[in-house]
Amino acid sequence: MKLYSTNNPENIVYLKEAVLQSLPEDKGLYMPVEIAELEQEFYANIENFTFKEIAFNVASALIGSYIPSIDLKGIIDRAINFSAPVVMHDDSIGTLELFHGPSLAFKDFGARFMAELISYFIQGENRKVTILVATSGDTGGAVAAGFYDTPGVEVVILYPKGKVSPLQEKQLTTLGKNIYALEIEGTFDDCQAIVKQAFLDNELNEKYNLSSANSINIARLIPQSFYYFEAYKQVVKYNKQVVFAVPSGNFGNLTAGLLAKKMGLPIHHFIAATNINKIVPDYLRTGKYEPKPSVATISNAMDVGAPSNFVRLLALYDNDYNALTKDVSGFFLTDEMDKNTMKQVFDDHGYTADPHGAIGYAAVKDFQQRHPDTVGVYLETAHPAKFLDVMEVVFDNPIDVPDRLQILSNRTKVADLLPAKFENVKHWLLSRETMSS
Ligand SMILES: *Cc1c(COP(=O)(O)O)cnc(C)c1O
Repeated sequence: MKLYSTNNPENIVYLKEAVLQSLPEDKGLYMPVEIAELEQEFYANIENFTFKEIAFNVASALIGSYIPSIDLKGIIDRAINFSAPVVMHDDSIGTLELFHGPSLAFKDFGARFMAELISYFIQGENRKVTILVATSGDTGGAVAAGFYDTPGVEVVILYPKGKVSPLQEKQLTTLGKNIYALEIEGTFDDCQAIVKQAFLDNELNEKYNLSSANSINIARLIPQSFYYFEAYKQVVKYNKQVVFAVPSGNFGNLTAGLLAKKMGLPIHHFIAATNINKIVPDYLRTGKYEPKPSVATISNAMDVGAPSNFVRLLALYDNDYNALTKDVSGFFLTDEMDKNTMKQVFDDHGYTADPHGAIGYAAVKDFQQRHPDTVGVYLETAHPAKFLDVMEVVFDNPIDVPDRLQILSNRTKVADLLPAKFENVKHWLLSRETMSS
């Protein structure tokens, strides 16, 4: 599988390099040179395939013979080992639950697949990889769980002190082994700036093979396309045009959906659903792209003012605004409307949506006023128990916390507290011993 840089189509690398390097030197993003359509026969029989079989078919079409089938099957088997059910509210709207993985957010798909790919690529080599990742919450938990105990790989997570939820903090700081947490006395932006600087630092690059697990890494994008096929399989029986609403921040999730469509998945329309950080909905409406500093909201995993995958959206459509807006429209909610929607979903359907998913619900409902004869699927990107503080404000009754989240509350946090300065993090990295295994 070959990939090109969005900044220079002549800059082409193989998948291994794209995954280990994360970003091309020209600061573009890697995109597949070829996006093969799946055979008609696959679509005709999709209802008979398991999720793993679907994932394998999609991955093979993208990756081709670059990874032998038997190895790719193993990678999928270990990475995609939890379900992605569509829960229908009625015959026209349902939710694709993407929170059945270890960290209870959709990012588990990307993180687990990436971990499997990296260990596949470095097996038998004497290479050690250090993943540096800045997190505002969900990414760190998924990456920590995904790479836990992966031979040859260690993860250093930077997170802003006091700015992730208590349960999210437990997910980052209680695993141990090859997972290290740095609690930074600053904001998420500080953490991200430090990580960026680390990638450019000569001394650090001499000591470490640094790699990124943020959604700029193509290894996170590929597996996120699998569940659009899996969802389609579950709603094809309604015999209506299928619409997806994707709660979005950095737009990796939506890009993966559009990739699925490019591979021939018959999806009629996508809705890019955001909170008040509505840079992309504004672009889709006006044609003007104007990144802004992010604003804090109750759907905080989508508080992004300069979405990193925006260039990939454009690349999929050869920068053709008209073609893009034919397939994708925008939608946004304020926090007040989001809370009201969460109540409405519960009152109308007895379903508890999280603050991110609820925006997708409202997006489908809005779209269906104009296109009633469709079946709409909104992505439930995380389990509501990850956002207890918001849930408690919206609902009077306490919500259920799944066991795998609950057991974390008794574990002991281990993190090193550091000032929000690159020099301190650099010193921490240079003065420690490197991995032994
Ligand atoms: C990361 C995240 C998002 C945003 O996904 P993108 O791919 O960055 O658009 C939405 N909801 C939740 C719960 C998330 O963790």
